Amino acid sequence: MQWVRRHFDSIAYKYDYMNTLLSFGVHYQWKRIAVGMMGLGAGDRVLDVCGGTGDLSRMAAERVAPTGSVVLYDINWEMMAAGRPKTAESQHAGRIRHVQGDAENMSFPDETFDAAIVSFGIRNLTHFQRGFAEMHRVLKKGGVFMCLEFSEPVTPWFRCLYDFYSFHLMPIVGKILANCGPAYCYLPESIRLFPGADELKAILEKTGFCDVRYRRLTNGIAVAHVGKKGDRVR
Ligand code: SAM
Repeated sequence: MQWVRRHFDSIAYKYDYMNTLLSFGVHYQWKRIAVGMMGLGAGDRVLDVCGGTGDLSRMAAERVAPTGSVVLYDINWEMMAAGRPKTAESQHAGRIRHVQGDAENMSFPDETFDAAIVSFGIRNLTHFQRGFAEMHRVLKKGGVFMCLEFSEPVTPWFRCLYDFYSFHLMPIVGKILANCGPAYCYLPESIRLFPGADELKAILEKTGFCDVRYRRLTNGIAVAHVGKKGDRVR
């Protein structure tokens, strides 16, 4: 956990730029698709777990306007601070509140939110199942869950290409541009250790989510899972 904290402290102000560079800008499209899969509506209260510099929070804020709100929740204040200028420029800045805390142990009461989302963050937790259980706990019955996370491409030749890129090129680019080679070695390794799309679906169902479905993005480099907590008229 200390390592993850130090890592995001060190890259906070380069995070958006590095993300855009290393994903060729595709991460914005993945995030838009994933948020679009949730069916958010005006008035919803959304929790963005491991929200970082706030891309998802800003996208969600647009969708829940004019009466809804978003809590951007992250353990690392530097990451949230790095995203504040972009949030301040957004038309819906007033809808987003920043809260610092641990995703494995949240202080929100049970059944607080209509939606809980996490993108590229759950993999960083020491016990990611605990993070899912916390998201389930703070969701209202019938509330929507979404997890966007890296995975592995499904087509073999594309997977080879992607492995070469992520294991060999990414750490070099990370070292040169962010002076952070080890951090970009950790990224592909942690992706390989994370459950695949079907296994993750089963974990989410075991956590208590229902109607879980997923969509592979860019041949499976990223996968967006959505589900629900029990039943409620939205
Ligand atoms: N969601 C953002 C996005 O998609 O661009 C940021 C993702 S960034 C890769 C991962 C974020 O998870 C970092 O901002 C980091 O501080 C946060 N994080 C890591 N461990 C955490 C924890 N235990 N609780 C809350 N946030 C955590």
